[in-house]
Amino acid sequence: DEARTSVGLLVKYHEDFEKRYARRLAIISELKHALVSAQSELKMVYQPKLELKAGKVTHAEALIRWNSSTLGFVPPDEFIGIAEQAGLIGQVTDFVIKTAIIDAKRIVESGLDICIAINLSAKDILNPKLLSVIEQHLKHYQVDASRLSFEITESDLVADPKKAVDELNRFREMGFSLAIDDFGTGYSSLAYLKQLPVSELKIDKSFVLKLAEQSSDQQIVQTILELAHNFQLGVIAEGVENQQSLKLLKEWGCDWVQGYHVCRPIDVEDMIQWCLQNAQTNWFE
Ligand code: C2E
Ligand code: MG
Ligand code: MG
Ligand code: MG
Repeated sequence: DEARTSVGLLVKYHEDFEKRYARRLAIISELKHALVSAQSELKMVYQPKLELKAGKVTHAEALIRWNSSTLGFVPPDEFIGIAEQAGLIGQVTDFVIKTAIIDAKRIVESGLDICIAINLSAKDILNPKLLSVIEQHLKHYQVDASRLSFEITESDLVADPKKAVDELNRFREMGFSLAIDDFGTGYSSLAYLKQLPVSELKIDKSFVLKLAEQSSDQQIVQTILELAHNFQLGVIAEGVENQQSLKLLKEWGCDWVQGYHVCRPIDVEDMIQWCLQNAQTNWFE
């Protein structure tokens, strides 16, 4: 009986493995296709970051969306990692940067004072050509460097700390502000954190989603706020899904919030309309 169970498990394991492998191959091949086919399957959406002191949107995060004609919607959490491993992330990032810069121009022209935050993966940061590509696009579309900022995931930085610090310094020298994304999930030491040339920490949404109910999350978030502010770093809380969380974060001196409660990620024209309509909204009553 036991033997039968292990054989069953083995078969199951093998089937799961094959399924995952097939899915991976499909994603790689379809993504290659999407990247050259006028890129209409890929688009960018934007999620506002609300600055709590003034109650104003000062930044918006650019998030990629892929609607594949054969695979349907594929979430970035699934395909970005595969793109990195398959050597396709450079092309994905080229698309992201170019589109975000074009949209940043559109946002400025609409009269809004909003900076676009672009997510970069570890492989991007180590790409020596990335900064010059960004510069070229900024110049070509006549967008000021101050209109862009970048988010880098904490666990990516921890993989090669020394190298990461060097590369991030090059971004800072060009005048871009940098945030550590998913903070609290990557085990960076305090000593390391102090060396990083970043200006903001973004608290991972796993600590924020149930903030109002979970006292352990409240303690973690308050501790991160105190730590970050002692280091003169701004703090963004992502995953704010209700008014109680927003109120707590404001009370504790969090600098920015982002989440479905404020606004979902939406396309650039919708975001511009949303920002214009919500310019006078009082978020705290
Ligand atoms: P991230 O940068 O930490 O982005 C936050 C994620 O949380 C986004 O998921 C966003 O849609 C989602 N989110 C925002 N507010 C809420 C909320 O209130 N509740 C919940 N449950 N979720 C919320 P998304 O767009 O699926 O992106 C997932 C991850 O994929 C991102 O995490 C980022 O690491 C990566 N990613 C997305 N776009 C890009 C991109 O253009 N380039 C790169 N390199 N990575 C990207
Ligand atoms: Mg991010
Ligand atoms: Mg995050
Ligand atoms: Mg992330």
